[in-house]
Amino acid sequence: MVRDKIIERVFEELSSILGRRVSRDPVDLGLHAIDASSYYFIPKDLSERYVLAVPKDAEEVSEVIKIAGKHGVSVIPQGSSTDLSMGSGSISVTTANQIYMLERGIILHTGMMSSIEEISETDRVAVVEPGVRIDSLNEALAETDLFFPVDPASARAASVGGAIATGAGGLRGAKYGTMRDWVLGLEFVDGLGRIHRTGCRTVKCRQGYDITRLMVGSEGTLGVITKAVLKLWPRPAAISRLMAVFNDFTSLYRFFLGVRRGRVPLIAEYMENRVADKVIRTLGLGIPVGHTLILDLEAGSEEEAEKLLKTLEKDAKDAGAFYTATATDRDRSFEEIYRFR
Ligand SMILES: Cc1cc2nc3c(=O)[nH]c(=O)nc-3n(C[C@H](O)[C@H](O)[C@H](O)COP(=O)(O)OP(=O)(O)OC[C@H]3O[C@@H](n4cnc5c(N)ncnc54)[C@H](O)[C@@H]3O)c2cc1C
Repeated sequence: MVRDKIIERVFEELSSILGRRVSRDPVDLGLHAIDASSYYFIPKDLSERYVLAVPKDAEEVSEVIKIAGKHGVSVIPQGSSTDLSMGSGSISVTTANQIYMLERGIILHTGMMSSIEEISETDRVAVVEPGVRIDSLNEALAETDLFFPVDPASARAASVGGAIATGAGGLRGAKYGTMRDWVLGLEFVDGLGRIHRTGCRTVKCRQGYDITRLMVGSEGTLGVITKAVLKLWPRPAAISRLMAVFNDFTSLYRFFLGVRRGRVPLIAEYMENRVADKVIRTLGLGIPVGHTLILDLEAGSEEEAEKLLKTLEKDAKDAGAFYTATATDRDRSFEEIYRFR
């Protein structure tokens, strides 16, 4: 076996700081070399070229980066590896340029930085470490009347650090925007190992360059995010969900424009009839095939949500919908309607 002298020295120096939270074990590395796409392969010489490091705070991240800099080795920050393109499953075919460009590297996994340090209902902010999963944050907020609205479909697994680094957004993006709109401040470690704190914890934060927003979407190229101050928002009191199926797109669109007049839907999902046909057959759903719209709208109370659904259903039918299904977020069928999506 050919021993890479540089990676051996990197491993020794990292071990003297992180102890057993450094690994060259092919199984450990293999698990961290894949991403959520199905296009990865694991090179045979993985443990000759890569080291896995799992720091637990900004100071340790700084040490890892300094050691990497000293030996000219790249650092790849990694959250939950759900990114599907050019991401932290950096040794995969999807990121083929990295496998060919990088001779060797340190995979810096943020899994041990996963504390929710503060939830302030007064200031409506949460201060979290990068390894916290988006769903875990919302679970922690369940006792409050606040929530964190950015909802990538991978929220159950996606880390806050990864979501910031990819500028993630989800179905509720039309109303709430993307990660860029919800990060008030950051702590990050730059390529020289220096720790920076940017932004603030208030909505009005206007002095100087907006480094915080520059970091959002930077995909780990400008530094490793080690802490984030996130804005929180009042959870909607109730949600009305409508599914409406039309024979033609024009009628559906006209109905949608009518709904949108004077309000912003939480979610507006359209599925074309041929795609709907495939989905219905694959999932064995008992709903008719057509151009399909699913809408979520906020309401001030359960009663208001039910009233809104009656109006929406009538308007949809008047506009030509030949099938509708409705539910509020208190109903069991609420999630069932969304199975279609
Ligand atoms: C089923 C599925 C559904 C998805 N749905 C959506 C969706 O609806 N919307 C959407 O936007 N995306 C979606 N994605 C893509 C992905 O889940 C998101 O981009 C997610 O936010 C990435 O988070 P992660 O923790 O998995 O990051 P990773 O995949 O680990 O990393 C992503 C990138 O961020 C960098 N990075 C990670 N942590 C840090 C850090 N602490 N500091 C600096 N850089 C860092 C990595 O180096 C990499 O470049 C989906 C993925 C899957 C598999």
